[in-house]
Amino acid sequence: MQIQTPQIDTGFATDTGRVRRTNQDAAGIWMRQELSSRADGLFVVADGMGGRAGGEIASRLAVDAVYAAVASSIAEEPGQLTPEFLVRTLHRALEAANEAVWRRANEEPHLQGMGTTCVAVLIASDVAAVANVGDSRVYRLRQGTLTQITSDHSLVQEYVDAGEISPLEARTSRFRNVITRAIGGAPNVVPDVDLVDLAPGDALLLCSDGLSTMLTDAQIARILAAAPSGQEAADRLVAAANLQGGADNITVIVLRYGPFEPVALPPDLDEEASYVPFLDAAAPPARAANRRGPISFLVLVAVLSAITAYLFLRGLLIPPPVPVQPPKESAAATQDAGAVEYSSPEIVTSKPVQGSPLVCDLAGNVYALSLSGRILRISPAGSSPPDFGPPDPRSARGSPAPQHWAVDSHGFLYVSDRYARRIHKYDPSGTRVAEIGAGFLTDPQGVAVDGAGNVYVVDGHTLKVLRPRLLAPATKSHAPG
Ligand code: CA
Repeated sequence: MQIQTPQIDTGFATDTGRVRRTNQDAAGIWMRQELSSRADGLFVVADGMGGRAGGEIASRLAVDAVYAAVASSIAEEPGQLTPEFLVRTLHRALEAANEAVWRRANEEPHLQGMGTTCVAVLIASDVAAVANVGDSRVYRLRQGTLTQITSDHSLVQEYVDAGEISPLEARTSRFRNVITRAIGGAPNVVPDVDLVDLAPGDALLLCSDGLSTMLTDAQIARILAAAPSGQEAADRLVAAANLQGGADNITVIVLRYGPFEPVALPPDLDEEASYVPFLDAAAPPARAANRRGPISFLVLVAVLSAITAYLFLRGLLIPPPVPVQPPKESAAATQDAGAVEYSSPEIVTSKPVQGSPLVCDLAGNVYALSLSGRILRISPAGSSPPDFGPPDPRSARGSPAPQHWAVDSHGFLYVSDRYARRIHKYDPSGTRVAEIGAGFLTDPQGVAVDGAGNVYVVDGHTLKVLRPRLLAPATKSHAPG
């Protein structure tokens, strides 16, 4: 009997972040037709490490080795792809990746000590096998609840497991970057492999720690649940991690299994309030990657070019996320404004809105205030996704609706709150990501944001500016081997 498998909607994004100079993460997505039409999908994320050229090479090698091993294992399997088969296959695939990285590291002296994390998901017939080595992660979102499937192979996770520190303390520990298992760090590796059932409406997220150290699980869940598509979710997750500092390379694969209904999860203010990234702002490790010799550089370029060409030919190369561009120049935006005429008024939304305020962002979203005081965001297509909440559900009762707001070029919304004497900053999914000016502002009213992200505010009849500054970068020095 042929099993009807749900459609899988995938999204992928990778970014160097705002601190690193190179992106040492790698990822791969292979769908049914590349898996002998027998498995539904293979998804891999790897986060490379190792001084000189090593990181990029290790992560790419691992991703490709996992695919090669899985593809041949499926091709050789005469029977049904049972859950046991999926587990066995991923187990061997990560061992094969380990061998490939270890061998290469020992063949080329300048690559000695390189390694990589690796998470892989192999799906067949409503079951996902999930394999992990290191501190990249796999999460499942089901009915608004986010569950971390993998357990980090890191020093802080061992402390957490032993009950010595809390998960919150682990997030800010100076040892949070020390991993205890890696692909390529030793001749043998023991991957963790679990089975997870999938139901229509579930989403899986694979990510490098550049995402999970920048965002709380609650923030990840809200973005994942609210985005209209897998690709939109991936782009928003990367944008949010960059907003929090982007201290490391960020890579995400999102896959949505069957029909997915976007939902707005309620804010979890207590968790947000208690999470302060970069609490211990140690200096970043000296980067040796820029001191590559010309020959190893050429080798790296050749390897990357070959891989790129290979992926391109297979139609697998997914372009990095494109920053929000202003809409194509319209007639009204040309200099020859005198020659423009306007259409008769069209209704943008059937929801009643208050007289003001009203703003647009560069992507063409329009923000207005509903009669009940909730912020509506209406997309250029006219759809209005889940509303942004009032500035603070705890203080909003009895306080006036927000009167002043602004949107920056990335679609982040800034709401001036006279009652709480601060400016709330929301990401494009409606998640509040920052409180600006708390403790300094006395009566914030008009607010505006320039292209550099400077926030201007009229505070008690005085025009003030709050300038963004990059938080001190977190360290990222995976312990070799
Ligand atoms: Ca990383």
